[in-house]
Amino acid sequence: MQFYNSVLDLIGNTPLVKLNSVTDGVAATVLAKVEYLNPGGSIKDRIAQRMIDEAEASGALQVGGTIVEPTSGNTGVGLAMVAQQRGYKCVFVCPDKVSEDKRNVLKAYGAEVVVCPTAVEPEDPRSYYKVSDRLLSEIEGAWKPDQYSNPANPASHYHQTGPELWEQTGGGLTHFVAGIGTGGTITGTGKYLKEVSNGRVKVVGADPEGSVYSGGTGRPYLVEGVGEDFWPANYEAGLPDEIVEVTDAEAFEMTRRLAREEGLLVGGSAGMAVVGALDVARRAEPEDVIVVILPDGGRGYLSKIFNDTWMTEFGFMGAGTGDTTVAEVL
Ligand code: PMP
Repeated sequence: MQFYNSVLDLIGNTPLVKLNSVTDGVAATVLAKVEYLNPGGSIKDRIAQRMIDEAEASGALQVGGTIVEPTSGNTGVGLAMVAQQRGYKCVFVCPDKVSEDKRNVLKAYGAEVVVCPTAVEPEDPRSYYKVSDRLLSEIEGAWKPDQYSNPANPASHYHQTGPELWEQTGGGLTHFVAGIGTGGTITGTGKYLKEVSNGRVKVVGADPEGSVYSGGTGRPYLVEGVGEDFWPANYEAGLPDEIVEVTDAEAFEMTRRLAREEGLLVGGSAGMAVVGALDVARRAEPEDVIVVILPDGGRGYLSKIFNDTWMTEFGFMGAGTGDTTVAEVL
């Protein structure tokens, strides 16, 4: 009999798959790490598990405790899943602009979701920041993971994602490319790969145009999960050798191509990272091996990136790039 003892044993050890079509004209090898195969559907399962492990070890999180985090994204799903397995309560605080589908995923795991109005100042007691602070101080045994500053976030990538990539490529990777959100993935994985290769592996960040990591001010962009308007503690700015700036249009076009040409239904930050990886690959040697992270799957973006009306509304699908319908052909 072959089985795992718990869903948590399915976290990590995700496979690498070669990109064969979007790499047309590129001599170097581009390998994608498929993080949507984690049980909660994203790379964030890794950090959720380690943040909770370390909080248990330090006593910050105790039996009967409650996890309180202002998130509605992949980190919330990871935390909700690990919390369910370990017997903790979870309360997520999110602004009302977050879709009902996203809130329902968290509730499905048994978490509570507190929705706050977006249209109030951060100092307003109803704001998402103030409400999560209040819950944290008033709920007994409450603990806030804070993925932006918690060292267990990059540590999970230093101890897991990095060694996996080194082993899977037999030490043969030459470049590591990842998007930057909290900075955990690029900092933890990049640091490990630089150490183990004596600085040979080049680390490249992909960043939405307008985000601080590529020199912007945090001006709004639509790709989700990456880019910031502040510098999180978990990002080590000196680590990447290079940052490639990617527009929303480039990221979304590549995201759609990954589904149609590679059979990989992934999120927009994966498309963005692949644009960065191809930019590196075009300048690389034919024998180079570029690894790129695909952080999550595409199902959460069906009404946006994969919706022609939404894409057209935001100007990402101009004349000539749209789909041809069967009716038009016949
Ligand atoms: N892509 C998606 C979809 C994410 O949710 C995140 C995490 N915010 C990232 C990329 C970036 O990862 P990190 O926080 O480790 O920089």
